[in-house]
Amino acid sequence: MNKIILALLLTAFGTCLLATTQTSQRQTSHKTIALTFDDLPYNNPAGGNFLKDAKRVTDELLRVLKAHKAPSVGFVNEGKLHAPGELEARTALLKQWVDAGMVLGNHTYSHPDFNTQTIRQFQDEIIKGEVVTRQLMKAKQPYQLYFRHPMTHTGDTKEKKEAIEKFLAERGYKVTPHTIENSDFIFNTAYVRAKLKKDEALMKKLREAYLEFNFAATDFAEQISPKIFGRDIPQLLLLHAIDINADCLDEMLRRYEARGYRFVTLDEVMSDQAYQTKDSLVAQRGPTWLWRWNKSLGLNLSFKDDPETPQWVMDLFNQR
Ligand SMILES: [Zn+2]
Repeated sequence: MNKIILALLLTAFGTCLLATTQTSQRQTSHKTIALTFDDLPYNNPAGGNFLKDAKRVTDELLRVLKAHKAPSVGFVNEGKLHAPGELEARTALLKQWVDAGMVLGNHTYSHPDFNTQTIRQFQDEIIKGEVVTRQLMKAKQPYQLYFRHPMTHTGDTKEKKEAIEKFLAERGYKVTPHTIENSDFIFNTAYVRAKLKKDEALMKKLREAYLEFNFAATDFAEQISPKIFGRDIPQLLLLHAIDINADCLDEMLRRYEARGYRFVTLDEVMSDQAYQTKDSLVAQRGPTWLWRWNKSLGLNLSFKDDPETPQWVMDLFNQR
């Protein structure tokens, strides 16, 4: 091909690319997302040295959050603090979150499934689960208290659901929704087992599949939100304080930034009108709030494009 024509073509192509990039940046620069982490101080389904592993994961999550200027709320299971001789060291992990400017929320004392609990038992779990957290957060007052139900099981009967919602509201808590759930806990179970076996190849494969799945779930949330609310809404990602996130968070946040996302506080997301929508779903499962709002508003949109966790990852998860 003639060099001049090639140069002209390349210039035209470049201008076109530039225009596309600028348009997509303009279109996406309003995108916001808040990050939340459950099961603090740390969860490892495969066992190991809790303190050592928890310290590494805490350090890394906070380092990455700070580097990306991403605020976050961490939901605590205070029952995890009470290991013989380790109360102080485990509490220090939570203090790291507070010192890094993050907010601590309540995820119950021992992570029970509300489906198997009475209202009274669950209330006790909430009260017992806020003792150390409130103390650590004292200097940050006033701040919004947040609660997240374990497994986001918000009540398998209308009576239970409404009783706990009322109880939480009276104690000053807001129930924390989520719009994106990436099965991190399932990927992580396979991941930490692979780590114990020093299977680097499988670990890499799981990290890549996890990130891919996270953004497939994000794609779906972006696609269904305007169908529910007639516009884009701030997204709310549910993560856990686990190894796979320590090892993937930096790349995950980079990719969100590349998609035009800005990381904002949970308070900011919760102030959006969409999040004032009542969730009236009564179920044993713990689906995203996008599904709950879809049902609560009587829309019955199809969620068939909501991605499923890859089967090979489920198989690894189910292996004993
Ligand atoms: Zn949890």
